[in-house]
Amino acid sequence: MRHPGLFRGLRHGLTALAAAGLVLSPVSAALAQDDDQISIIRDTEIERTLHEEMDPIFVAAGLDPKAVRINLVSSREVQAFAAGGQQIFVYSGLILQATTPNELIGVLAHETGHIAGAHLARAGDMEHAAIGTMLVSVGLGILTALAGAPSAGASLIFSSGFFGELNALGYSREQESRADQAAATYLERAGVSGRGLVAFMNYFRYQEVFDDSKKYPYFRSHPLSDDRIEALAVRVKQQPHYDQIDSPHAIAAFEVMKAKLEGFIDGAGQVAEDYPDSDQSFPARYARAISLYRQIEPDAALKAVDGLLAEQPNNPYLWELEGQIDFDSGRTRAAEIAHGRSVEIDPDAPLLRINHAQALVALGDPASLDAAILDLRRSLAAEPDSPLAWRLLSEAYDGKNDPGMARLAAAEQNFYLGQLLEARTFAFNARKLFEKGTPQWRRATDIILASKPTPEQLKALGGG
Ligand SMILES: [Zn+2]
Repeated sequence: MRHPGLFRGLRHGLTALAAAGLVLSPVSAALAQDDDQISIIRDTEIERTLHEEMDPIFVAAGLDPKAVRINLVSSREVQAFAAGGQQIFVYSGLILQATTPNELIGVLAHETGHIAGAHLARAGDMEHAAIGTMLVSVGLGILTALAGAPSAGASLIFSSGFFGELNALGYSREQESRADQAAATYLERAGVSGRGLVAFMNYFRYQEVFDDSKKYPYFRSHPLSDDRIEALAVRVKQQPHYDQIDSPHAIAAFEVMKAKLEGFIDGAGQVAEDYPDSDQSFPARYARAISLYRQIEPDAALKAVDGLLAEQPNNPYLWELEGQIDFDSGRTRAAEIAHGRSVEIDPDAPLLRINHAQALVALGDPASLDAAILDLRRSLAAEPDSPLAWRLLSEAYDGKNDPGMARLAAAEQNFYLGQLLEARTFAFNARKLFEKGTPQWRRATDIILASKPTPEQLKALGGG
């Protein structure tokens, strides 16, 4: 079996060391105004994989899996943490360092232990952070497309200072050991081995000693000790599911997730090294296809995706990638067809509908704009806090010469970006264009009220 962990760990470790701390992914670096920012990324396929792995653990912890939000942070750092509002943040660097699904599940089960145990040292601080603003996020696919649009891109990026503050908030040793024990309980209840969590810790304990440097933030916030690892190892070895191994399905999904992250986030050189042409596996070809796309070689990238689609014609995420390559290379009609296919196969994925709507809005004819509005409405019904969906909706209404709805959507977009002044301004302008008392009028009023209006503005509202 492929086991790139040690090799990759050393190599990434050296890169991190050379850059003295925070390492930006090329994707977010392209978007960033300065070098001091990292981003949260969205990807339907990766989110599905993470939830498929973790939902049984959440259930075992007595949590509602639908209420737990797994946020993916684009960063090579090895880090994960739990936050208020039942949120887990996992860095792409940690996923890439894990060598099996079981290791990743183990680490995230530990974070689940912090959530279920309400270890509020960190959660309390999180409440004061701009959590709403922080959740602004976008698809991996859309991310690169927006690289040239600073106003859109800026919203996706958060200062590393913000994350740095979070990272600095460590758990106590007592909380660590309680989260470990909780993780062991959940894993066993869910029929999953605790072996991976212990292996992950052991691997990094060796690394930290070996390099004599504190380069893995995860273990700064979750302090490791021999006692801690030993206590956990003894416990999980006694559990009936200790010898349970990852299913072939879980391993395949895990390898695809890693290939995708590496393809989107790492440079072409890294991808070529980890996925040489001699490797004809599905994940390797997937990673190379994405890498070709990111090197702006759309023809070669499309050819590679077509090869994958020949094997998995009903894989919505391959259609998503095809649509994205088409869209970014100006083949808008082809993009609409490919994204439309992805929505057809997976109608309940909000991000796929946003991609489709983006192509429809770009086509711009009345029928396409109507279809885009339907997609965006459905997407927003599931995830109302998506500024990108609101922005596209505003554009679609603009194309239809509906200035009231266009401004109302722009007000929503700015509201969810935390840009309250702009939200208020758009909402005021929208409100003037609607009949008093209509749902749109009321929504515009709500946005104004929620956007810290001045006393004069409040007065103006009272006047109708
Ligand atoms: Zn911890």
